[in-house]
Amino acid sequence: MRRARPQAHAAHKRALKRATLRDCAHRCVYCGVCLHSEIATLDHVFPIAKGGMHTPGNVVAACGPCNRRKGDMLPHEFFHRYPGAGLNFLAYARVVHRSLKRGARRAVSLAMAA
Ligand SMILES: [Zn+2]
Repeated sequence: MRRARPQAHAAHKRALKRATLRDCAHRCVYCGVCLHSEIATLDHVFPIAKGGMHTPGNVVAACGPCNRRKGDMLPHEFFHRYPGAGLNFLAYARVVHRSLKRGARRAVSLAMAA
């Protein structure tokens, strides 16, 4: 889907990044490190490669290492393997879809119980 003119597209991307950083309290939602816009990356909680949407409720701020570690893992796989990341996600990803938060909570409690 590339209907927007390139310039408008770049402006939109910057605006999304700013809004996402603000919504995530300028932290990586997975490890909690403080982020500023030069080092922040945007992560699709439910990966685009697996059918996730490029919409605000599925986009969070993440540091490069966390983003690479998560890769194309589904959120519940990632949070089950890294429950600490799941706890940070629940604390910092304030505007993601409720279903993503529910899934994260479930994956963390399963990991804790194991
Ligand atoms: Zn991180």
